[in-house]
Amino acid sequence: MKKILALLSLLIFMVACSSSDTPVRETKGISTSRRTSSSSIGSMGKFKVDSDTYVSLGRNERIQFVVVHYTATNNEYSIKELISNRVSAHFLVLDEDDNMIYNLVPLDQRAWHAGASSFRGRTNLNDTSIGIEIVSDGIARDRRNDPNRYPPYDAYLEYKPIQIEKVAQIIKYVAARYNIPARNIVAHSDIAPSRKKDPGAKFPWKELYEKYDIGAWYNESDKQAFMNEEKFNATSISDIKEELRKYGYEINRTNEWDRDSRDVVYAFQLHFNPKNATGNMDLETFAILKALNKKYPN
Ligand SMILES: [Zn+2]
Repeated sequence: MKKILALLSLLIFMVACSSSDTPVRETKGISTSRRTSSSSIGSMGKFKVDSDTYVSLGRNERIQFVVVHYTATNNEYSIKELISNRVSAHFLVLDEDDNMIYNLVPLDQRAWHAGASSFRGRTNLNDTSIGIEIVSDGIARDRRNDPNRYPPYDAYLEYKPIQIEKVAQIIKYVAARYNIPARNIVAHSDIAPSRKKDPGAKFPWKELYEKYDIGAWYNESDKQAFMNEEKFNATSISDIKEELRKYGYEINRTNEWDRDSRDVVYAFQLHFNPKNATGNMDLETFAILKALNKKYPN
């Protein structure tokens, strides 16, 4: 029985965070960061390498995103899986009350945590992101067989406050080091809405924003201003999808809320309206989306 449970645990983990390694389509971005001394080469054989005379402006940081995950299993199986050669992440936060943060992959190397993914015009985010895995079952075990594709808020498990403190420190460090924009600190579900739900409805994005100035959040007054039933009803599905696209989500262009589109709505709600995560676009979710696009225009 124990063995079966262990195997099941591993399988759940692999489903939660499995990754693939496909080529990327690059998009342009601008970085204002200066050349660091560590990028000077010095010499190559008998030749001197001059890194100062001609310096290009056309460059940016390779790391542009932080992606947050839960492992969907316990410490033991999370470690086992994350040190294997199948999946990995740069950072691991265990379910422990200690003061340790584990760094499993050097930050200048790719970890395999995102899989097929897309956000803000970039795909295959393993190439451009730092991945953080938090040990948590994510969804309560007795709720996992629920046929509802969109588990409600109360199906998700709380994180330990110390886990959130550790994640906050990691994100602060990475965001400062690579100058990562607020909107690019994302959930795995944001970048792969039809495959992933982690880090789930109980990951406290609002608290991180308010307490640590981490990630994006809307202004309450903007949201209230957009809480207009008439305007909401008069906005076509295509136009609402355009708003989601504008924020960064990849979503199809049909004029209906098909399953893939509802997956995107659910991912958005997990992040920004978690207590009402249903997969249905409602007035409040619409108002939050509009408020975010007002605050973070492209
Ligand atoms: Zn994940």
